Amino acid sequence: MFSLSSPHNHTPYCDGRSTAGAMVQSALWHGFVSLGFSGHAKQDFDVFYAMDEIREASYIDEIKRLQSQYAGQIRIWLGMERDCHSTADRADFEYVLGSAHYLPLPDGTMLPVDGPMKMITSAIRDHFGGDGFAYAQAYYMQLGNYISDYCPDIIGHYDLLMKNNRHGELFDPDSYRYRKAATDAMDQAIKGCDLLEINTGGMARSGAHTPYPARKLLAYWQQIGGQVILAGDCHEANQIAFGYELAASMVRDTGFKKAAILGRHDTLFEWVEVV
Ligand SMILES: [Zn+2]
Ligand SMILES: [Zn+2]
Repeated sequence: MFSLSSPHNHTPYCDGRSTAGAMVQSALWHGFVSLGFSGHAKQDFDVFYAMDEIREASYIDEIKRLQSQYAGQIRIWLGMERDCHSTADRADFEYVLGSAHYLPLPDGTMLPVDGPMKMITSAIRDHFGGDGFAYAQAYYMQLGNYISDYCPDIIGHYDLLMKNNRHGELFDPDSYRYRKAATDAMDQAIKGCDLLEINTGGMARSGAHTPYPARKLLAYWQQIGGQVILAGDCHEANQIAFGYELAASMVRDTGFKKAAILGRHDTLFEWVEVV
């Protein structure tokens, strides 16, 4: 196992359950060399799930306070997880994790792709002619365009929509049509960011057996020259390195020779050997 770190951690300023201080304590206990916080950035819908202006200010204050408190012990980074529909300004943060959680529907509502299955199947029936592939295509087109336009530092949970498709309920993930949509979006995304997280959050919280993204997509990302970083998408301090052994073995098996971690000092990323 290579040096432990994670750029993807939530606190009660958004939807996390453990305080930022408890996260840092857990990271130290696990031997992490650095730790990044990535509160859900401001958005003007689904507001309880993300930080509003007041919570964002408190979050920034608290992470800065922890940065000073733990200086010399562990480098703490102030980041945000910015959805493609967020309104947050990146200027106040040291890095941005860019991700897509929602798909705008023609009726003006926002569909959370990791939300309840019933919502997804109704939306596919009402807005995608019952075609699960069309839904997946729309998701990936939005994600690829967001990443190439916004250029975040890291791409979050690439195939999040698989949370509701673990047994092929919505579309066949091995089909050419699905893989083409996902890999075309990778070709687009890499123009704006070449660092993709291997996200174990679904393993910790919703019973997934493997991280995001699926192995085949990760292999494609490697082929086109993409890089990777391990990320826990952690909402509870005791799960901070959940699934990391499997994620690290996926990195090795897919042929990556190195992976990024958040820097121990002032450079945002360091590279560690994974062989
Ligand atoms: Zn997310
Ligand atoms: Zn997250």
